[in-house]
Amino acid sequence: MKQTLTVRYPQTSSTSSDEFDIDEFCPHCGQPGSQIVFSSMTYDSFNNLENAVAFFVQCPRRNCKKFHIQAFPFRKNSFGSSTIAEIGKKIPYTYKVKHVNNLPEIVNITFPAFKTIYEQSLEAEAQGLDQIAGIGYRKAIEFLIKEYVIHKQPENEDNVKSKFLGKVIDENLSEFPKIQALAKAAVWIGNDETHFVRVHEDKNIQDMKGFLTATALFISAELKADEAIEFTSRTKS
Ligand SMILES: [Zn+2]
Repeated sequence: MKQTLTVRYPQTSSTSSDEFDIDEFCPHCGQPGSQIVFSSMTYDSFNNLENAVAFFVQCPRRNCKKFHIQAFPFRKNSFGSSTIAEIGKKIPYTYKVKHVNNLPEIVNITFPAFKTIYEQSLEAEAQGLDQIAGIGYRKAIEFLIKEYVIHKQPENEDNVKSKFLGKVIDENLSEFPKIQALAKAAVWIGNDETHFVRVHEDKNIQDMKGFLTATALFISAELKADEAIEFTSRTKS
């Protein structure tokens, strides 16, 4: 997002002003937003022709608010001028987005293979490996659904393992239309992540994660409800 910003230099009150393409993605929460720029400082003094400026930036998201730095190289054509002739590409600083597995414990404990794949996908996303993360989340959905169906219908294990995921969702989850819809939505986007041609251009990996999370929450509610039914139906001694 282009912003007109003031460039401050060490040991002088002289400044420059120019448009900088501030990255809208926060390196902490990984979310886009209109980043707030507070101040700046250059690497070298005002008279250097080759220089770089770092901006002191804050994430505007209320649940984040974390600060970071965005830096850009720039060039001037003449000594002592405040006019910037050219701005280069943002200097890559390596920050690591921390994604935590916030899914309910019951899901993580009941479906350990899903948990492993999901956490590896979070890690890939944190490392900026968005292509790999997308494929990972697609695989995570498959494991979540199949592990859940096998948990509910252990007699169908072999059949479910070898069946296409779409068929499992259609045929084995018919009692749970909302889980069915969520899983289907996650899989549709997930298939885009693994295939060469995208079908659903308007949806991305964050949308898929949203559907995947909601699926996991529904399944966790089902598991908890089953636990409650089992508990309350025990014969009182
Ligand atoms: Zn943030």
